[in-house]
Amino acid sequence: MAVDLTRPYDANNVFAKILRREIPVEILYEDDFALAFPDITPQAAIHVLIIPKGAYVSASDFGASASDLEIAGYARAISNVATQLGLQEAGYRLISNAGPDAGQEVPHYHVHLLAGEKLSAKLI
Ligand code: C5P
Repeated sequence: MAVDLTRPYDANNVFAKILRREIPVEILYEDDFALAFPDITPQAAIHVLIIPKGAYVSASDFGASASDLEIAGYARAISNVATQLGLQEAGYRLISNAGPDAGQEVPHYHVHLLAGEKLSAKLI
């Protein structure tokens, strides 16, 4: 079911459980601000989810509520993940779904990093 952006953060969402280590994942990257792990249903040869450690539902929530330090740290983490995966030259795509029109499923802000192959048609 698509995320309802009018609802408060749900501390029992699956990514919150992953952050609390209640659900095991292969951790690809972690720092004070973010955690990255492979998407369980990959849509490309490389499909990694990068999530902030704070309790934010969407990019809007994150932008409105997170500290500048968290925002900068999260942006740096995305950059670090791409570098760690060796994608600086081949490139990659970042996507973040917010709310019903975008079909967001998990109510914890996340960015999808897609790479490792020639990616199909762009929406934008
Ligand atoms: O952006 P959106 O909310 O639609 O995407 C959520 C993503 O989280 C999906 O790509 C889904 O495969 C992934 N997921 C996951 N592990 C879970 C639950 C969802 O990687 N346990």
